Parts: sequence; structure tokens; C-alpha cells
Amino acid sequence: MKVTIEDSCIACGACESICDAVFSVSDKAAVNESAVAANEASVKEAADACPVSAIVVE
Ligand code: SF4
Repeated sequence: MKVTIEDSCIACGACESICDAVFSVSDKAAVNESAVAANEASVKEAADACPVSAIVVE
């Protein structure tokens, strides 16, 4: 599973609230790749919750 953040991210913080092991937000969300495998369900939840659909899960 690969997770990327598109430039449309508005740094709202929702993804970090849902899964702070994977997402950290400053001026844009960043992904901690090493934590993705252990948190796949939360990553998908965060992707669904992102208001601008900036989290791309492949
Ligand atoms: S939920 Fe979406 S818009 Fe909000 S910080 Fe995360 S990636 Fe950015």
C-alpha cells in the first residue's frame, strides 16, 4: 500500500486526528511510510475523511 498527499491538501489536520502514527500536518500533510502497513484501516478512513480528497491510496 502506497500513500501520497496531493498538493490540494489544505492542512486541515483531519488525517492526523484519525491516524497520527502515519500522518503529520504542518503546512501540508506528510506520510510516515514505515507506519502505513500497521495502520491500513485507519489510513483508508483518513483518505475517506479528507475534505479535498488529497490522500491517494494505491
Ligand atoms: S485531511 Fe486532507 S486536507 Fe486535511 S491535512 Fe490531511 S491530507 Fe490535508
